[in-house]
Amino acid sequence: MPDHRRLGRELELFHADPLSGAGLPLWLPAGAAARHSVEEYVRELERRAGYQHVYSPPLGKRELFELSGHLGYFADDMFPVLRLSADDEFVLRPALCPHHALVYRARGRSYRELPLRIGELGGMYRPERSGVLGGLGRVRAISLNDAHNFCAPEQVGAEVAEVLELIRAAHAALGVRPAGFRLSLRGPGEKYVGDDGMWRRAEELLRAALAGLPYVEAAGEAAFYGPKIDIQVRDAAGRESTLSTIQLDFDKPERFDLSYTDARGRRVRPVMLHRSLIGSMERLFAYLIEVHAGAFPAWYAPVQVRVLPVGPEQVAAAEVFRRDCVSAGLRAELVVDGSLGARIRDAALRRVPYAAVLGAREVSAGEVALRLRDGRGVDPMAAPDALRLIAGVVASHSADLLP
Ligand SMILES: [Zn+2]
Repeated sequence: MPDHRRLGRELELFHADPLSGAGLPLWLPAGAAARHSVEEYVRELERRAGYQHVYSPPLGKRELFELSGHLGYFADDMFPVLRLSADDEFVLRPALCPHHALVYRARGRSYRELPLRIGELGGMYRPERSGVLGGLGRVRAISLNDAHNFCAPEQVGAEVAEVLELIRAAHAALGVRPAGFRLSLRGPGEKYVGDDGMWRRAEELLRAALAGLPYVEAAGEAAFYGPKIDIQVRDAAGRESTLSTIQLDFDKPERFDLSYTDARGRRVRPVMLHRSLIGSMERLFAYLIEVHAGAFPAWYAPVQVRVLPVGPEQVAAAEVFRRDCVSAGLRAELVVDGSLGARIRDAALRRVPYAAVLGAREVSAGEVALRLRDGRGVDPMAAPDALRLIAGVVASHSADLLP
């Protein structure tokens, strides 16, 4: 597998500038276009699965993170507190959960609303040491595909199973090949909240959800508030890291005094499930760039179609086809300089899935000839049919360039 930092430079996906700071990469237009498609896809996947999306600020009051336990148990992994004045201190958040707990308790909740799934693709911050930073693999500003699912205790098993199913769907569309499941458990030490009974209950639920799947157990890899299922991927150097997670939390509902009214009018504590289908955009793309060698599935390729007129006489018709592609929701560009052979080679080198060639014969017949980045060619076809073919592949989130 190639190195995502080199490919990220060559394909102009992202840029590291010392003035921006280590671990604070800039997403260039091509990388941003790919990321935008992925964000749109996952938001829609979640919407269909009953998630409601919110926005919350990337920093919050110190007291919020005292209440959540982050300042007590997780301060080493957080930026220092920002102080405006003695009674006005802020924290660059290391996680979105505290804000989502506030969303939950913005009003009273009924059992009829559960599971209540609050989703956000939000920013959070970790002060990683500068020595471990590089490219997108490890960053200090993290854009996380996150959600917190508030469940009645008896709903947790089914909810975990459903999240696993969503993770499978997202991985299939993105071309993620998981390296395995890991059940991350508590280790020795004082850095965990909650009592033994709570941890045992949570572990049992996650073990049941993993029944039938191959997984390893890892002591000491749990979050400070509960055990989790990690879905691992492997990078170019063979290093394993966590992409998707499902974490069980009985602690934050206590700390934030979250409740709902059950069918008999009693006040009951919900269980909080932290889950990420595809992890952070940064780590995800570090992985995707390498696993696809930059040749993303068409649906999130930065440029999906390069339109290549053979000569100056075909430029006008090529521009019409490019505009039609853009109107159909595709990312398309016109390239006129250089020999046709060089332009076809360059399109493939830039990992553009489709080159649409228009010569004199094609233009007079109202056709285009598609060339795929893997070298395959398609017989010339009517321009609207070619457009429909590409738009169809994109809409289906297929990894194949032909239907
Ligand atoms: Zn969380």
